[in-house]
Amino acid sequence: MAATVIDGKEFAARVRGQAAEHVAALKANHGITPGLAVVLVGEDPASQVYVRSKGKMTVEVGMNSVEHKLDVNTSQEDLLAMIDQLNTDPAIHGILVQLPLPGHLNEDLVINSIDPAKDVDGFHISNVGLLGTGQKSMVPCTPLGCLMMLRDHHGSLSGMDAVVIGRSNIVGKPMAQLLLGDSCTVTIAHSRTKDLPDVVRRADIVVAAVGRPEMVLGDWIKPGATVIDVGINRLDAPEKGAGKTRLVGDADYASCAEVAGAITPVPGGVGPMTIACLLANTVTACCRANGLAEPEGLTA
Ligand code: NDP
Repeated sequence: MAATVIDGKEFAARVRGQAAEHVAALKANHGITPGLAVVLVGEDPASQVYVRSKGKMTVEVGMNSVEHKLDVNTSQEDLLAMIDQLNTDPAIHGILVQLPLPGHLNEDLVINSIDPAKDVDGFHISNVGLLGTGQKSMVPCTPLGCLMMLRDHHGSLSGMDAVVIGRSNIVGKPMAQLLLGDSCTVTIAHSRTKDLPDVVRRADIVVAAVGRPEMVLGDWIKPGATVIDVGINRLDAPEKGAGKTRLVGDADYASCAEVAGAITPVPGGVGPMTIACLLANTVTACCRANGLAEPEGLTA
């Protein structure tokens, strides 16, 4: 039987709608407008597209969007000074430094200079520690989006076997922590994992965050399992015309969809949820900063 398609585009629109409702209530009841500052250093074309789209959606849900575009040669000192200024600006509730940064800048140092309460990407070492110890934190957007989709599809995840393929700090590790927090039995697989297909075959939930096009095959999937495909890989698509490309995930969609119970497509699965969760995190950060109740359903 063909898998249920988990429609991330539709789900993300729902999350943005919820965020917009909370923003409207914050304005009407408390005279507060959440503000998100995005800092972009350099002119990486992909980063520019992301930043534009983040800014557009921030405004669409009624929040203030501030973009700081800095020269590629910006010094570490100047970047840290800018972050310091945003840290103390009461109109700014979320700060995102677009990664990757140019090579002369120390990414860890920069991220850890953000006020953890405004760290809407959830990459600050304090937030990593809070998440790892099951305390209230800012949760990285992509894994948060995956968790929301899984909870929405399954209800409780308690007792399920989950395999996360990939151990990066931005996706794999926080994803595993979140699944553990929801009482899954979690295995983290990576490039040194022995017999990966066999490991994946045990899972009720498979999260693929590898960066290898169509690597996870249908015969790795336990019948009825849920496949969350985080991968975004661009392949040449000469059939669409010269120089054209197409996006594929880390799972081979056609073969996995034949066996899985549910699957996220690429594009239109996890991708749209990432920005929606950034907006959700900004609303959460704003509520926390003002001592207000956190929006339900928008946090882990
Ligand atoms: P990284 O490159 O940081 O991590 C990839 C992970 O995959 C590593 O842990 C690596 O293992 C593991 N891996 C590599 N090859 C294999 C293999 N053959 N078998 C098993 N594991 C393997 O990637 P990210 O976590 O940043 O991103 C993963 C994917 O998700 C990418 O396609 C990226 O574009 C996408 N992405 C999508 C987002 C979205 O919004 N939808 C957001 C962020 C990322 P090891 O540690 O041993 O090297």
